[in-house]
Amino acid sequence: MEVPCVRVPREEGEATRRDLAEADLIADDREIRVKDGWLYIPVVDSEAVPAGLAVVSREVPVRETQTTPADLLGFDPSYERIGDVALLDEDDPERADRIARAIVESDLPVGTVLNKASKVKGETRVRDWELLAGEGTETVHREYGFEYALDLATVYFSPRLATERHRVTEQIVDDENERVFDMFAGVGPFVIPAAARGAKAVGVDVNGRAIEYLHENAGRNGVTDRVTAIHGDVREVATEFEGRADRIVMNLPHSADEFLATAVSVAGEECTIHYYDIQHDQDPFGPSEKAIRDAASEAGYDVEILTRHVVRSYAPHELNVCLDVRLSRA
Ligand code: SAM
Repeated sequence: MEVPCVRVPREEGEATRRDLAEADLIADDREIRVKDGWLYIPVVDSEAVPAGLAVVSREVPVRETQTTPADLLGFDPSYERIGDVALLDEDDPERADRIARAIVESDLPVGTVLNKASKVKGETRVRDWELLAGEGTETVHREYGFEYALDLATVYFSPRLATERHRVTEQIVDDENERVFDMFAGVGPFVIPAAARGAKAVGVDVNGRAIEYLHENAGRNGVTDRVTAIHGDVREVATEFEGRADRIVMNLPHSADEFLATAVSVAGEECTIHYYDIQHDQDPFGPSEKAIRDAASEAGYDVEILTRHVVRSYAPHELNVCLDVRLSRA
Protein backbone atom coordinates (compact mmCIF):
# COMPACT_ATOMS: atom_id res chain seq x y z
CA MET A 1 0.00 0.00 0.00
CA GLU A 2 1.29 3.47 -0.85
CA VAL A 3 1.57 6.05 1.92
CA PRO A 4 2.43 9.77 1.86
CA CYS A 5 6.17 10.37 2.28
CA VAL A 6 8.25 13.51 2.53
CA ARG A 7 10.99 13.27 -0.08
CA VAL A 8 14.28 15.09 0.62
CA PRO A 9 17.85 14.82 -0.68
CA ARG A 10 19.74 12.36 1.51
CA GLU A 11 22.10 15.07 2.91
CA GLU A 12 19.09 16.97 4.29
CA GLY A 13 17.47 13.79 5.60
CA GLU A 14 18.51 13.88 9.24
CA ALA A 15 17.56 17.55 9.79
CA THR A 16 14.19 17.03 8.10
CA ARG A 17 13.53 13.83 10.04
CA ARG A 18 14.19 15.73 13.29
CA ASP A 19 11.83 18.56 12.30
CA LEU A 20 9.08 16.10 11.34
CA ALA A 21 9.59 14.09 14.55
CA GLU A 22 9.30 17.25 16.62
CA ALA A 23 5.99 17.95 14.90
CA ASP A 24 4.87 14.32 15.56
CA LEU A 25 4.37 13.81 11.85
CA ILE A 26 6.42 10.66 11.24
CA ALA A 27 4.45 7.44 10.68
CA ASP A 28 6.26 5.18 13.16
CA ASP A 29 4.69 2.02 11.79
CA ARG A 30 6.57 2.40 8.47
CA GLU A 31 10.26 2.20 7.54
CA ILE A 32 12.18 5.26 6.33
CA ARG A 33 13.71 4.39 2.95
CA VAL A 34 16.64 5.66 0.83
CA LYS A 35 16.58 5.36 -2.97
CA ASP A 36 18.74 7.03 -5.62
CA GLY A 37 20.02 9.73 -3.26
CA TRP A 38 16.57 10.58 -1.87
CA LEU A 39 15.22 9.87 1.58
CA TYR A 40 11.52 8.95 1.88
CA ILE A 41 10.07 9.70 5.31
CA PRO A 42 6.54 8.31 5.79
CA VAL A 43 4.20 10.84 7.40
CA VAL A 44 0.87 10.51 9.17
CA ASP A 45 -0.75 13.64 7.66
CA SER A 46 0.39 15.04 4.32
CA GLU A 47 -1.68 18.20 4.84
CA ALA A 48 0.25 19.08 8.00
CA VAL A 49 3.69 18.86 6.37
CA PRO A 50 5.40 22.30 6.30
CA ALA A 51 5.22 24.12 2.99
CA GLY A 52 8.42 23.74 0.99
CA LEU A 53 8.75 19.99 1.64
CA ALA A 54 7.77 17.70 -1.22
CA VAL A 55 5.18 15.02 -0.38
CA VAL A 56 4.94 11.98 -2.67
CA SER A 57 2.98 8.77 -2.49
CA ARG A 58 5.21 5.72 -2.13
CA GLU A 59 5.28 2.03 -1.16
CA VAL A 60 7.36 1.63 2.03
CA PRO A 61 7.51 -1.52 4.17
CA VAL A 62 5.71 -1.87 7.48
CA ARG A 63 8.11 -1.48 10.38
CA GLU A 64 8.83 -4.54 12.50
CA THR A 65 8.34 -3.47 16.09
CA GLN A 66 10.88 -4.86 18.52
CA THR A 67 9.83 -6.44 21.79
CA THR A 68 12.26 -5.44 24.52
CA PRO A 69 12.86 -7.19 27.88
CA ALA A 70 11.22 -4.15 29.52
CA ASP A 71 8.03 -4.72 27.45
CA LEU A 72 7.80 -8.23 28.90
CA LEU A 73 8.83 -7.42 32.47
CA GLY A 74 7.19 -4.06 33.12
CA PHE A 75 10.54 -2.66 34.30
CA ASP A 76 13.86 -1.96 32.60
CA PRO A 77 16.41 -4.55 33.81
CA SER A 78 20.09 -3.72 33.84
CA TYR A 79 22.46 -5.94 31.90
CA GLU A 80 25.63 -5.71 29.84
CA ARG A 81 26.12 -7.25 26.43
CA ILE A 82 29.21 -9.03 25.13
CA GLY A 83 28.49 -10.36 21.65
CA ASP A 84 25.30 -12.42 21.90
CA VAL A 85 25.68 -12.92 25.66
CA ALA A 86 23.76 -10.82 28.23
CA LEU A 87 25.41 -10.43 31.62
CA LEU A 88 23.39 -9.85 34.79
CA ASP A 89 24.49 -8.89 38.28
CA GLU A 90 21.47 -10.08 40.30
CA ASP A 91 21.51 -11.41 43.87
CA ASP A 92 17.92 -12.68 43.89
CA PRO A 93 17.77 -15.97 41.89
CA GLU A 94 14.05 -15.66 41.08
CA ARG A 95 14.45 -12.14 39.73
CA ALA A 96 17.54 -13.27 37.77
CA ASP A 97 15.56 -16.13 36.17
CA ARG A 98 12.67 -13.81 35.27
CA ILE A 99 14.99 -11.32 33.62
CA ALA A 100 16.86 -14.08 31.77
CA ARG A 101 13.59 -15.47 30.38
CA ALA A 102 12.45 -12.02 29.26
CA ILE A 103 15.78 -11.32 27.53
CA VAL A 104 15.63 -14.60 25.61
CA GLU A 105 11.96 -14.11 24.67
CA SER A 106 12.55 -10.51 23.55
CA ASP A 107 13.82 -9.54 20.10
CA LEU A 108 17.33 -8.84 21.38
CA PRO A 109 19.94 -10.86 19.46
CA VAL A 110 20.97 -12.72 22.64
CA GLY A 111 21.53 -16.47 22.86
CA THR A 112 22.97 -16.81 26.36
CA VAL A 113 22.28 -15.11 29.70
CA LEU A 114 24.83 -15.32 32.52
CA ASN A 115 24.68 -14.06 36.08
CA LYS A 116 27.79 -12.96 37.97
CA ALA A 117 28.70 -15.70 40.46
CA SER A 118 31.94 -14.25 41.85
CA LYS A 119 34.21 -11.21 41.66
CA VAL A 120 37.04 -11.27 39.10
CA LYS A 121 39.70 -13.45 40.71
CA GLY A 122 43.32 -14.43 40.70
CA GLU A 123 45.99 -13.69 38.18
CA THR A 124 43.80 -14.17 35.09
CA ARG A 125 40.98 -11.85 36.36
CA VAL A 126 38.29 -14.32 35.22
CA ARG A 127 35.05 -14.60 37.22
CA ASP A 128 32.60 -17.46 37.74
CA TRP A 129 29.27 -17.26 35.91
CA GLU A 130 25.95 -18.95 36.48
CA LEU A 131 24.34 -20.02 33.21
CA LEU A 132 20.69 -18.86 33.28
CA ALA A 133 19.76 -19.41 29.63
CA GLY A 134 21.43 -20.70 26.50
CA GLU A 135 24.27 -23.11 26.17
CA GLY A 136 27.72 -21.63 25.94
CA THR A 137 29.95 -18.88 27.27
CA GLU A 138 31.83 -18.36 24.01
CA THR A 139 30.88 -15.46 21.76
CA VAL A 140 32.14 -12.92 19.24
CA HIS A 141 32.05 -9.30 20.38
CA ARG A 142 32.26 -6.29 18.05
CA GLU A 143 33.95 -3.08 19.18
CA TYR A 144 34.87 -0.07 17.00
CA GLY A 145 34.74 -2.23 13.87
CA PHE A 146 36.90 -5.06 15.26
CA GLU A 147 35.77 -8.61 16.13
CA TYR A 148 36.89 -10.43 19.26
CA ALA A 149 36.16 -14.12 19.81
CA LEU A 150 36.32 -14.95 23.53
CA ASP A 151 35.01 -17.32 26.17
CA LEU A 152 33.78 -15.58 29.29
CA ALA A 153 34.41 -18.72 31.33
CA THR A 154 38.14 -18.67 30.59
CA VAL A 155 39.26 -15.10 29.76
CA TYR A 156 38.81 -11.55 31.03
CA PHE A 157 36.91 -9.07 28.87
CA SER A 158 35.05 -5.86 29.74
CA PRO A 159 32.96 -3.98 27.16
CA ARG A 160 33.01 -0.94 29.49
CA LEU A 161 36.57 -0.17 28.42
CA ALA A 162 35.70 0.21 24.73
CA THR A 163 35.93 4.02 24.67
CA GLU A 164 39.13 3.94 26.70
CA ARG A 165 40.80 1.45 24.37
CA HIS A 166 39.78 3.63 21.44
CA ARG A 167 41.20 6.75 23.15
CA VAL A 168 44.56 5.02 23.55
CA THR A 169 44.87 3.27 20.19
CA GLU A 170 43.82 6.41 18.30
CA GLN A 171 47.10 7.96 19.47
CA ILE A 172 49.05 5.59 17.20
CA VAL A 173 50.14 7.28 13.99
CA ASP A 174 49.86 4.98 11.01
CA ASP A 175 53.14 5.59 9.17
CA GLU A 176 55.50 5.55 12.14
CA ASN A 177 55.95 1.77 12.54
CA GLU A 178 55.47 2.01 16.26
CA ARG A 179 56.50 -0.91 18.43
CA VAL A 180 53.65 -1.50 20.88
CA PHE A 181 54.04 -3.84 23.87
CA ASP A 182 50.84 -4.82 25.72
CA MET A 183 51.93 -6.42 28.99
CA PHE A 184 48.47 -7.78 29.89
CA ALA A 185 46.90 -8.28 26.48
CA GLY A 186 43.88 -10.55 27.10
CA VAL A 187 42.16 -11.44 23.81
CA GLY A 188 43.68 -8.40 22.10
CA PRO A 189 41.41 -5.33 22.35
CA PHE A 190 44.45 -2.98 22.51
CA VAL A 191 46.80 -5.09 20.38
CA ILE A 192 44.49 -5.54 17.40
CA PRO A 193 43.44 -1.90 16.86
CA ALA A 194 47.11 -0.92 17.39
CA ALA A 195 48.20 -3.34 14.66
CA ALA A 196 45.39 -2.13 12.41
CA ARG A 197 46.84 1.37 12.74
CA GLY A 198 50.18 0.14 11.43
CA ALA A 199 52.00 -0.74 14.66
CA LYS A 200 54.01 -3.90 15.26
CA ALA A 201 52.21 -5.10 18.36
CA VAL A 202 53.35 -7.67 20.93
CA GLY A 203 50.72 -8.98 23.36
CA VAL A 204 51.67 -11.01 26.41
CA ASP A 205 49.33 -12.83 28.76
CA VAL A 206 49.78 -15.40 31.48
CA ASN A 207 46.42 -16.93 30.47
CA GLY A 208 47.03 -19.43 27.66
CA ARG A 209 43.38 -19.35 26.52
CA ALA A 210 43.55 -15.56 26.12
CA ILE A 211 46.63 -15.93 23.92
CA GLU A 212 44.88 -18.57 21.77
CA TYR A 213 42.02 -16.11 21.25
CA LEU A 214 44.49 -13.29 20.55
CA HIS A 215 45.96 -15.43 17.71
CA GLU A 216 42.49 -16.17 16.40
CA ASN A 217 41.42 -12.53 16.66
CA ALA A 218 44.50 -11.30 14.83
CA GLY A 219 43.41 -13.56 11.96
CA ARG A 220 39.77 -12.48 12.13
CA ASN A 221 40.82 -8.84 11.87
CA GLY A 222 43.47 -9.31 9.17
CA VAL A 223 46.48 -8.21 11.25
CA THR A 224 48.32 -11.50 11.85
CA ASP A 225 51.48 -10.21 10.16
CA ARG A 226 51.81 -7.35 12.67
CA VAL A 227 50.87 -9.22 15.87
CA THR A 228 53.07 -11.37 18.10
CA ALA A 229 51.11 -13.17 20.85
CA ILE A 230 53.14 -14.66 23.69
CA HIS A 231 51.90 -16.87 26.50
CA GLY A 232 53.80 -16.32 29.74
CA ASP A 233 54.48 -14.15 32.74
CA VAL A 234 55.43 -10.76 31.32
CA ARG A 235 58.27 -10.45 33.84
CA GLU A 236 59.97 -13.38 32.11
CA VAL A 237 58.91 -12.61 28.54
CA ALA A 238 60.14 -9.00 28.86
CA THR A 239 63.81 -10.03 28.90
CA GLU A 240 63.56 -10.74 25.15
CA PHE A 241 62.22 -7.24 24.45
CA GLU A 242 64.52 -4.97 26.49
CA GLY A 243 64.67 -1.41 25.16
CA ARG A 244 62.34 -2.21 22.24
CA ALA A 245 58.97 -0.55 22.94
CA ASP A 246 57.76 2.86 21.76
CA ARG A 247 54.43 2.39 23.56
CA ILE A 248 53.49 0.16 26.48
CA VAL A 249 49.99 -0.69 27.72
CA MET A 250 49.68 -1.72 31.38
CA ASN A 251 46.06 -2.65 31.94
CA LEU A 252 46.28 -4.54 35.23
CA PRO A 253 44.74 -2.13 37.75
CA HIS A 254 45.37 -2.92 41.43
CA SER A 255 48.81 -4.42 40.81
CA ALA A 256 50.39 -2.58 37.86
CA ASP A 257 52.90 -0.96 40.24
CA GLU A 258 54.50 -4.39 40.76
CA PHE A 259 55.30 -4.46 37.03
CA LEU A 260 56.82 -0.99 36.61
CA ALA A 261 60.44 -2.19 36.67
CA THR A 262 59.52 -4.63 33.87
CA ALA A 263 57.80 -1.88 31.87
CA VAL A 264 60.80 0.43 32.17
CA SER A 265 63.15 -2.39 31.05
CA VAL A 266 61.10 -2.80 27.84
CA ALA A 267 60.91 0.96 27.10
CA GLY A 268 62.97 2.37 24.23
CA GLU A 269 64.85 5.70 24.38
CA GLU A 270 61.49 7.47 24.08
CA CYS A 271 58.36 5.62 25.15
CA THR A 272 54.73 6.33 26.07
CA ILE A 273 53.20 4.25 28.85
CA HIS A 274 49.45 3.92 29.43
CA TYR A 275 49.26 2.98 33.09
CA TYR A 276 45.94 1.89 34.65
CA ASP A 277 45.15 1.96 38.34
CA ILE A 278 42.27 1.97 40.82
CA GLN A 279 42.63 4.72 43.44
CA HIS A 280 40.67 6.62 46.05
CA ASP A 281 38.87 9.68 44.63
CA GLN A 282 40.66 12.00 47.10
CA ASP A 283 43.98 11.46 45.32
CA PRO A 284 43.30 9.42 42.19
CA PHE A 285 46.62 10.10 40.41
CA GLY A 286 49.20 10.81 43.14
CA PRO A 287 50.21 7.24 44.10
CA SER A 288 50.55 6.06 40.47
CA GLU A 289 52.51 9.16 39.50
CA LYS A 290 54.97 8.65 42.34
CA ALA A 291 55.43 4.94 41.55
CA ILE A 292 56.11 5.70 37.86
CA ARG A 293 58.54 8.55 38.63
CA ASP A 294 60.48 6.37 41.08
CA ALA A 295 60.79 3.42 38.69
CA ALA A 296 61.65 5.56 35.65
CA SER A 297 64.19 7.84 37.31
CA GLU A 298 66.02 4.85 38.79
CA ALA A 299 66.46 3.59 35.22
CA GLY A 300 67.64 7.01 33.95
CA TYR A 301 64.48 8.37 32.33
CA ASP A 302 62.88 11.81 32.52
CA VAL A 303 59.12 11.59 33.04
CA GLU A 304 56.42 13.80 31.56
CA ILE A 305 52.79 13.18 32.53
CA LEU A 306 50.84 13.70 29.29
CA THR A 307 47.30 12.96 30.55
CA ARG A 308 45.62 12.28 33.86
CA HIS A 309 42.42 10.56 32.83
CA VAL A 310 39.48 9.17 34.83
CA VAL A 311 38.26 6.10 32.91
CA ARG A 312 35.20 5.35 35.06
CA SER A 313 33.94 5.08 38.57
CA TYR A 314 34.89 1.65 39.94
CA ALA A 315 33.21 1.55 43.36
CA PRO A 316 32.04 4.19 45.86
CA HIS A 317 35.01 6.61 46.24
CA GLU A 318 37.18 4.47 43.97
CA LEU A 319 38.14 5.49 40.45
CA ASN A 320 39.63 3.56 37.57
CA VAL A 321 42.26 5.96 36.19
CA CYS A 322 44.81 6.05 33.40
CA LEU A 323 48.04 8.03 33.27
CA ASP A 324 49.57 8.56 29.83
CA VAL A 325 53.25 9.09 30.54
CA ARG A 326 56.20 9.95 28.30
CA LEU A 327 59.60 8.52 29.26
CA SER A 328 62.70 10.08 27.65
CA ARG A 329 66.21 8.84 28.28
CA ALA A 330 67.87 11.55 30.41
N1 SAM B 1 44.01 -5.73 28.26
C1 SAM B 1 42.97 -6.75 28.26
C2 SAM B 1 41.61 -6.12 28.08
O1 SAM B 1 41.49 -4.88 28.06
O2 SAM B 1 40.64 -6.87 27.93
C3 SAM B 1 43.01 -7.64 29.49
C4 SAM B 1 43.10 -6.89 30.78
S1 SAM B 1 42.86 -7.90 32.24
C5 SAM B 1 42.45 -6.64 33.38
C6 SAM B 1 44.48 -8.29 32.76
C7 SAM B 1 45.15 -9.45 32.01
O3 SAM B 1 46.48 -9.59 32.52
C8 SAM B 1 44.48 -10.80 32.18
O4 SAM B 1 44.19 -11.34 30.92
C9 SAM B 1 45.54 -11.65 32.92
O5 SAM B 1 45.54 -13.00 32.52
C10 SAM B 1 46.83 -10.95 32.54
N2 SAM B 1 47.95 -11.10 33.51
C11 SAM B 1 47.90 -11.05 34.86
N3 SAM B 1 49.16 -11.20 35.39
C12 SAM B 1 50.00 -11.33 34.32
C13 SAM B 1 51.41 -11.52 34.21
N4 SAM B 1 52.20 -11.61 35.28
N5 SAM B 1 51.94 -11.58 32.97
C14 SAM B 1 51.16 -11.51 31.86
N6 SAM B 1 49.81 -11.36 31.93
C15 SAM B 1 49.24 -11.27 33.13
